[in-house]
Amino acid sequence: MCFRPPGAAKNVKCPSCGMFNPPTLEKCRKCGTEVPKMITCPECGVTQSETNKVCINCGFNGKPGSGDPAKRK
Ligand SMILES: [Zn+2]
Ligand SMILES: [Zn+2]
Repeated sequence: MCFRPPGAAKNVKCPSCGMFNPPTLEKCRKCGTEVPKMITCPECGVTQSETNKVCINCGFNGKPGSGDPAKRK
């Protein structure tokens, strides 16, 4: 994982059954489906899967100066 979100993470919706799970859980507590952790890009604020190596919106990869400045908030 390259970058961490500021502040508290939100509950993550199970892609299979729609159950909201605490972000600390790796599997849905209802159906057992693996739930991707969601993080917020510190540069542009877009919420996305923690498995992304770079931000899907601005391209931020955890290094200062990376990413597209035009897409930051
Ligand atoms: Zn589920
Ligand atoms: Zn971003």
